[in-house]
Amino acid sequence: PFDVLIVGGGPAGAAAAVYAARKGIRTGVAAERFGGQVLDTLGIENYISIKETDGAKFAVALEEHVKAYDVDIMNMQRAEALKVEGDLVEVTLASGATLKSKSVILATGARWRDMNVPGEAEYRTKGVTYCPHCDGPLFKGKKVAVIGGGNSGVEAAIDLAGVVDHVTLLEFDSQLRADAVLQRKLHSLPNVKVLVNAQTTEVKGDGSKVVGLAYKDRKTGELHSIDLSGVFVQIGLVPNTAWLKGSGVELSPRGEIIVNTHGQTSVPGVYAAGDVTTVPYKQIVIAVGQGATAALGAFDHLIRTSAP
Ligand code: FAD
Repeated sequence: PFDVLIVGGGPAGAAAAVYAARKGIRTGVAAERFGGQVLDTLGIENYISIKETDGAKFAVALEEHVKAYDVDIMNMQRAEALKVEGDLVEVTLASGATLKSKSVILATGARWRDMNVPGEAEYRTKGVTYCPHCDGPLFKGKKVAVIGGGNSGVEAAIDLAGVVDHVTLLEFDSQLRADAVLQRKLHSLPNVKVLVNAQTTEVKGDGSKVVGLAYKDRKTGELHSIDLSGVFVQIGLVPNTAWLKGSGVELSPRGEIIVNTHGQTSVPGVYAAGDVTTVPYKQIVIAVGQGATAALGAFDHLIRTSAP
């Protein structure tokens, strides 16, 4: 068996692999797509010590760093179930194989919920974006929309209002769902317009970038369009935890894996890191730190529980 088996090969999984391997213990990584969300990212400008890079380069660097150690990388392997059998944790892959390990680190990340309207997929990273912390500065002096009036949408609109020329926030429902204090702040900003009962129906582009969006007023049925350069979709982040159903690993109401400050889950020997967990602020630098924490947590568990 492995000493540490990591499920997921994004920033969190890669950091966990490096930290575990450096302890000289038997380490494996099973990942559906090594690199994770970083592979879908254009520019990265907030990973401290690297002023500017792009997602593809960053993913290659992650893999090269892991490969510098004796780590068994199993790429394009999807985990489908986890269970504890005696002293070992078993992870079953879609291929039918079962991997056994004394400890497991779950780092399966998350994905942004999308609107599913024409133009959204086509203009992703060409004006359609999901991350104000990452891409806000790219729209300096321009007009943007934020889709979603929950906490993350309203926070994004407040954040962006300080960076871009103008923000239009569109909420499907008849009212915003964000905390009152956020809504007050939002309404105090001169360069933000809020539209409720607004159903986005299309992202419009010129073939290479976003130029606007269309929405339907759900009260009157009228169609409208807005000229803008960026659309920030903030309608939820979905953690990749469906495969853990029945495993005993405790999830929050949003489906995130509940971890303590050591990265420990509710199942002894099972740790978690990155966007898949309850830890707030889903960012690379945070996922990497959590990956290190989970690996050190798992190592602590091993030296307390397994024979030398
Ligand atoms: P992920 O990167 O999601 O990796 C998850 C890994 O688990 C992948 O290898 C995946 O294939 C694998 N996996 C999932 N399910 C299974 C399964 N069942 N079995 C096996 N493997 C599985 N953050 C920044 O800090 N700066 C930025 O500029 C930035 N820009 C972004 C731009 C975009 C378009 C997106 C989508 C995100 C961006 N982020 C940015 C956020 C950042 O990418 C994430 O916070 C980070 O990748 C999280 O790392 P992770 O390892 O937790 O998860």
